[in-house]
Amino acid sequence: MIKFWKERAKSKILTENIKLEDEINILRDELKGQIKAKFAGSLSIRMVDSGSCNACEAECNALSNPYYDLERLGIHFVASPRHADVMLLSGVLTFNMLPHVLDAWEQIPEPKWCITLGDCPAMKAPFYQTFAIKAPASEHLPISYHIPGCPPSPEEIMKGLVGFLRGV
Ligand code: SF4
Repeated sequence: MIKFWKERAKSKILTENIKLEDEINILRDELKGQIKAKFAGSLSIRMVDSGSCNACEAECNALSNPYYDLERLGIHFVASPRHADVMLLSGVLTFNMLPHVLDAWEQIPEPKWCITLGDCPAMKAPFYQTFAIKAPASEHLPISYHIPGCPPSPEEIMKGLVGFLRGV
């Protein structure tokens, strides 16, 4: 027991990744600055699941937890497309979901942007052009930006949002 505590006292804190924290702080600063400059400090996102496995949504949910806390940067996930600036689209665009995705897109007021999240909405093979799957989304919607990954981590989603905002 004494040996354990001696070693524990000598070791550094192992639960925090300082390098990652620094990277996230840089992303936070840029997100906040870009949203302030281009969206008057408030960017509203309507997340639409068009037939995903829910892992992309789980990673997005993490962005609202106290660690990432994107709300304080001015990013809000909204319940209605009528309140949104951006549609964040995940999933493979199933035959049944496609009309609802297009309906949600129609209801977002101009100016509006669509970002695809994860590899599913950009999918070409192996399910491309089957009866059940209507991906890639670019055949149905004007896609402004794509965030790759399966699923993308919260850091990758933040990087993707920065990339999108740089292009607006
Ligand atoms: S991209 Fe991967 S994680 Fe995201 S919905 Fe598709 S299969 Fe799931």
